[in-house]
Amino acid sequence: MKICVLGAGVIGLTTAWCLAEAGHDVVIIDRHASTGKDASAANGAQLSYAFVAPLASPATLKKLPALLLSPDAPMRIRAGLDPALISWGIRFLLACRPGAVRETVAAQLALAALSRRELTRLTQSLGLSFGLRTAGKLVIYRSAREFKTAFRSVVATGKQHDQQVLTAAECLALEPALQLDAGQLAGGIFTASEQVGDCAAFCAALTIRLRQRSNVEWLLDTPIIGPIRSGGRLVAIDTGKGQVQADHFVLCMGATSGAFARACGFYLPIYPLKGYSITLTPPAGARILRHSVTDMARKLVFAPLARDGRPAVRIAGIADLERNDMTLDGQRVDILRRAAAELLGIDAAGDIAPWCGLRPTTPDSRPIIGWSPLDGLFINSGHGMLGWTLACGSARLTADMIERKRSTSETSAFALRRAA
Ligand SMILES: Cc1cc2nc3c(=O)[nH]c(=O)nc-3n(C[C@H](O)[C@H](O)[C@H](O)COP(=O)(O)OP(=O)(O)OC[C@H]3O[C@@H](n4cnc5c(N)ncnc54)[C@H](O)[C@@H]3O)c2cc1C
Repeated sequence: MKICVLGAGVIGLTTAWCLAEAGHDVVIIDRHASTGKDASAANGAQLSYAFVAPLASPATLKKLPALLLSPDAPMRIRAGLDPALISWGIRFLLACRPGAVRETVAAQLALAALSRRELTRLTQSLGLSFGLRTAGKLVIYRSAREFKTAFRSVVATGKQHDQQVLTAAECLALEPALQLDAGQLAGGIFTASEQVGDCAAFCAALTIRLRQRSNVEWLLDTPIIGPIRSGGRLVAIDTGKGQVQADHFVLCMGATSGAFARACGFYLPIYPLKGYSITLTPPAGARILRHSVTDMARKLVFAPLARDGRPAVRIAGIADLERNDMTLDGQRVDILRRAAAELLGIDAAGDIAPWCGLRPTTPDSRPIIGWSPLDGLFINSGHGMLGWTLACGSARLTADMIERKRSTSETSAFALRRAA
């Protein structure tokens, strides 16, 4: 079959690989001249297989007013009366119910486990190099109440993920790069098996392998203008360089997937959630971060990476609902700068490579993977905060579903109808 993949971020590229590997003729279209340029470019680098809790939860609901009112809050709404945000917001509130959260966590854990297996397979079989490392993840809590809740959940599920509960002093002993006093922490959870990897480097390495395949065709630097339908079926895509026909199309356009779906005549609840990152090279003599760290109070992640062959730290977070605005707001970047100083004692005055990206986010944080209401169009999009973690498993599911190798019971948790 000829299958056209719309979008060459980490989701489109992994999808294209699985389809090409299965023997299909694949066409990849993207507006940029190279791959992995949008949300996949400088994300938090966490392969977070055990921490998959959705943004929508009873706890978020309780904190929402405080989160939204403080100028330094990690979340902000500046979308005015955007009807798309109102529809999305209503669904978000419904997804905060405890039953919905439990369903999401179970589905995401299964997809994360599949992703880990698939990423390992791809990395080994293709010899991909992108700084993949089992660095372990330390989640630090400043509030005793939040720590107690996390502690309970580790007791319930910890064995599965090899998690340890640590006191404040144990957290600081485990990660000496943290410049905090024990009195500032309530405790932490350490998961030794969690990984980090540079998503942009992965996209670049996978692109090289895709370019070596004779059944993959590229249409880069090519804006997707809209769908061309005939008799209730998607038959072609109108692009800046003419029409592209295929037997099937896979929607992997990240934050603009919702707009494409609208043009196809159906509602896809994916809204852009803007986040920021900075990447620092610690000065000579500074303690090097060894593990990935999540500061639960600030909702920020710190990942040990390499830049130009030297140890580097990526600090990422913030969740702003601002339509498709890609302005790099200096005040939001300053939140990350201050975090570098407070947690790592690094003066982030020099080259910090500030970046922002739009996470394609569904109300319940679960991606949408399945056939759309328009014949011929499959959706693999809406991975929100965990697109890097979930990419390889989502691509596997997509290829298997297109080839009818998965039962509905295996895939219904990601179907569009549960979210729309
Ligand atoms: C600050 C931040 C930190 C993050 N940290 C992590 C993390 O630590 N771990 C994790 O697992 N995930 C993380 N994520 C989430 C993850 O990066 C995203 O979920 C993932 O990159 C989404 O991939 P995607 O391929 O769906 O979208 P994108 O990477 O945005 O790709 C979409 C592609 O579609 C193309 N496209 C869109 N519209 C058109 C058009 N009209 N014509 C042609 N092409 C088009 C774009 O050019 C782009 O290349 C983070 C995200 C952000 C913003």
